[in-house]
Amino acid sequence: MTDLRAAILARLDELERLARDAIKTNPGGNGRWTAVEVYPDEAEVVDADGARIARYTHWYPDMADGMDPEDARHIAAWDPDSVLALVVGAREMVGLHSPDVDPMFNRSGCVGCGSLPDYADRHVDDCPTLAALAKMLGVRAGA
Ligand SMILES: [Zn+2]
Repeated sequence: MTDLRAAILARLDELERLARDAIKTNPGGNGRWTAVEVYPDEAEVVDADGARIARYTHWYPDMADGMDPEDARHIAAWDPDSVLALVVGAREMVGLHSPDVDPMFNRSGCVGCGSLPDYADRHVDDCPTLAALAKMLGVRAGA
C-alpha cells in the first residue's frame, strides 16, 4: 500500500520550496507577478515592483522572439504567491482527509470520508478526495 498522503505532502513541500526560491531570487523579492505587453503580441512577466521575471528576448537573434502574451499570462497566473496559496489549501485538504484508525475492528479509513456508507472498510489511500488532489498535483500512486 502506498502512502498517498505522504506523496502529496512531499509534492506540496517541493512546490513550496520552488515558489519560495523564486521569491528569493527575484530582485523585488515578492511573489506577485503580472504579464505586461511590451510590443503588440509580445510580453514579459514582472513582479509587483516592476522587476522582470521572464524577459522579452527580441534583441537576441539566437533566441526565439518575444514571449507570447498568452505564455506571459500563464506564467503570471502561476506566480509564487498563487502557488503558495494552492499549497496552503491543499495541505488543509490533506489534513481533512487523514487516517481514521479503528483498532477495535482492525481497520483504518479516512476521517473526511469515514461517514460515507461505502467507505467504512477502506484505507485512507483510497480516499477519493486525496486521489483527486494527487491527480491535480501530478502525484502518482506508488511514486
Ligand atoms: Zn477522504
